[in-house]
Amino acid sequence: MRRARVIMIIILVVMFVKPDLNLAIAGAGVHALTLALHLIQKRKNFGDRFLAFDPSGSWLSQWHRQFAMQEIPHLRSPAVHHPAPDAFNLRSFAESRTNELHPPYDLPSTELFKDFCKQAIQEFKVNDRVVKATITRLEPLDPHFRLWLDDGNSLVARRVILATNKTFVQIPEWVNKIAESYPKVRLVHSHSIDLRSLGSLFGEKIIIIGGGLTSGHLAMGAINRGAKVGLMSRRKLKAKVFDAEPGWLGPKYLKGFEAETDWEKRRQMVISARDGGSLTPEMLNRLEQANRSGQVDFYENCEVMKAEWKGNFWRLICEDGMELNCDRLWLATGTKFDVKADPLLTEIIEQFPIEVVGGFPIIDPCLRWKGCELFLMGGLAALQVGPTARNISGARMASDRIIPALI
Ligand SMILES: Cc1cc2nc3c(=O)[nH]c(=O)nc-3n(C[C@H](O)[C@H](O)[C@H](O)COP(=O)(O)OP(=O)(O)OC[C@H]3O[C@@H](n4cnc5c(N)ncnc54)[C@H](O)[C@@H]3O)c2cc1C
Repeated sequence: MRRARVIMIIILVVMFVKPDLNLAIAGAGVHALTLALHLIQKRKNFGDRFLAFDPSGSWLSQWHRQFAMQEIPHLRSPAVHHPAPDAFNLRSFAESRTNELHPPYDLPSTELFKDFCKQAIQEFKVNDRVVKATITRLEPLDPHFRLWLDDGNSLVARRVILATNKTFVQIPEWVNKIAESYPKVRLVHSHSIDLRSLGSLFGEKIIIIGGGLTSGHLAMGAINRGAKVGLMSRRKLKAKVFDAEPGWLGPKYLKGFEAETDWEKRRQMVISARDGGSLTPEMLNRLEQANRSGQVDFYENCEVMKAEWKGNFWRLICEDGMELNCDRLWLATGTKFDVKADPLLTEIIEQFPIEVVGGFPIIDPCLRWKGCELFLMGGLAALQVGPTARNISGARMASDRIIPALI
């Protein structure tokens, strides 16, 4: 009897916890910013009803950081893809800087994109909407959420958008089997390579594993510092203008995707549309030139079977028996999404169990978690948004789905 009363009191307290905030956005990256700007465009008064939380305390810090670390000169996506609501705004902004729109599809330079986003942030007055904090725990209070922050404080939000882009690095099996201890800097994942922090690499041989655009950027960075590069990929290097074909941005492919009711088949469609990593034709061209001048060797259709640290260099034994030596190994082997492994979602999954297909949750067409007011953006929304979910274009598509549910 006493226990029932205590439970009743707890339920009443939870039910009447007044939210401190209408909408909390976890993360302040491209996806969060896209949602914020589209939301304000639709409802001006939403401007002071949401806050984004990010350890950096500012918008797009992770975006700028990754472009700077890999010295990426321009985006892979065309100028129509950006966080602001009017698709043509970036083109107009670039009127006096047309040399920063790269052919053949007007790919904005890194600086142009940065300046444009800065202007959009000012124009929509969202500069002060980012709280400098990491969300350490997302506690479902049903119907609200308590967000625990790294400074020990917490607050209650009515609705939460998860835009943290939580990914897990993919490490090849042979790496886990390396028996010898080796200096950490001699084997790193591309995520932690900051080209700016590397001095001269003159005389070094660096083998980069992976055939995606990241491998290309890192190869160019290493060559520019005097290294000789080996580019190793499981299949033949492939050139594609975009990550996924433009047909995935509209009904051409999305109609069939959305009509597919088998979630596993949808997942397969996402995987095959992205089809692993690819280089842009421009990057492949640059690498082929570097290959002709002896700065890059291509090891295509090739996989490492074993790596040994020999005291001051690596010896690689490949599956076809080829042996290679190098000074550094860089893994540009990509990342993956796994909803079940995201610590922020542990309690949500417990309280609101959800079906998961290959790491992706089955959320509703508004990208809402079943049973609560939590919305997902980015790669985790791929089973609804499609293969470009993680890209800038995916941020717009996700906003178009989430905003009607919010307002
Ligand atoms: C090198 C590179 C180049 C790319 N180029 C393009 C391109 O040209 N065109 C394109 O369309 N796509 C591109 N992409 C893909 C994609 O657009 C980017 O990865 C983009 O940054 C994804 O945006 P996001 O908002 O999902 O994530 P992010 O930009 O990673 O932002 C997520 C933010 O959430 C924060 N965060 C994480 N956990 C927490 C937490 N617990 N609490 C609070 N905050 C948290 C992070 O600190 C980060 O600031 C590129 C990706 C990479 C890696």
